[in-house]
Amino acid sequence: MTVLALALAMLLLLWAGVLLAFARPLAARWREPVFRQPILIIESDDWGAGPLAQADALTRLTDTLQGIRDRSGRPALMTLGVILEVPDGPRIAATRCTEYHALPLADPRFDAVRAAIQSGIQAGVFVPQLHGQCHYWPPALMAAASNNPGLRDWLAAPEPASTEGLPSPLQSRWVDASSLPSNALPDDAIQRAVATEAADYEALFGSAPQVAVATTFVWTDAVEAAWAQGGIKAVITPGRRATCRNAAGQPGCVDATMLTGEHSLAGQAYLVRDVYFEPALGHAPQRLLGALQARTRQGRACLVETHRFNFLQAPDASLAALEEGLKAALNVCPDVRFLSPLELMRAIRQRDPAWIEIRLKPRLAAWRARLDEIPRFRRLSRLSGLALPLALLESRA
Ligand SMILES: [Zn+2]
Repeated sequence: MTVLALALAMLLLLWAGVLLAFARPLAARWREPVFRQPILIIESDDWGAGPLAQADALTRLTDTLQGIRDRSGRPALMTLGVILEVPDGPRIAATRCTEYHALPLADPRFDAVRAAIQSGIQAGVFVPQLHGQCHYWPPALMAAASNNPGLRDWLAAPEPASTEGLPSPLQSRWVDASSLPSNALPDDAIQRAVATEAADYEALFGSAPQVAVATTFVWTDAVEAAWAQGGIKAVITPGRRATCRNAAGQPGCVDATMLTGEHSLAGQAYLVRDVYFEPALGHAPQRLLGALQARTRQGRACLVETHRFNFLQAPDASLAALEEGLKAALNVCPDVRFLSPLELMRAIRQRDPAWIEIRLKPRLAAWRARLDEIPRFRRLSRLSGLALPLALLESRA
């Protein structure tokens, strides 16, 4: 055997070794569905019970989104992660902050907010989904308030509260973060809470919630099991599941990572939302386009996270940035389609050939584009030269 043949055999062995070492993440990204066209979903959390100024913000969003349409004629969609209650400040104040009382979204004080949500739904631009009964776990909030005057003031405020003002750990609904690291909640308390919020959601929107997104992306198997009983079929994730708040108050105890189309133990489809667009924090419209192009190369839908605070704190600039970003996306990617998470889930489940790619070459190209996100694989494939043949997959598509 010549030296050259031996060197080639060694190289192939090295590549095989690298591929084998990363077999699991590589196979998972091969199994992950590949979408045939660019898909853009704007997801906006925290709407519902809260400041009354939301009514005006929602109406302006509806007007803006209606004016932007994909090539099927559909207006730009925005999912609304809905919150169903805030503290009833005057009633809590009357107990000297010893008892929690809720001000529900169904209260007449929120008539204008609910009407703005409903008219956006009827206009085909809003798609509600469950964010939670409240953006906190009430007993944890009350426990934390017992030795925190600032929290007591927040709880007792006369106007419907903005949960954005709470310390971040307390904004997690599915752990007790009254002390850190957080403690898990009892399973039966989670089940009761989910049953209540699913029923309240149905009473408001006329049908049970089917998509859920946990506040601050902290949730557990027990929450997913309760969601399944409440009718939740799809769970919005950032690609990983944090199950606690750690000693520093950060989301921690990550016990799972997921790709779009994978399933929870309780059977829900996971969808990954990993693009952040918060104009009030300085994110430029171009960010939407860049993310859409990158996800499209990966054969993935582009799920964009944004929050109501943008449209309350800096309404003019945030609306303008959103409009500009969506129009840029349509200009550069005229095939882009606006879909709801539930429609995305159904396309995956039914392997709908209108949406899901089955041809080998585009699937290989999307797979190759997904591999760079596996950090050690990226480095090793470059060092070993494996990146060169892999690059051919992308260029041949
Ligand atoms: Zn939230």
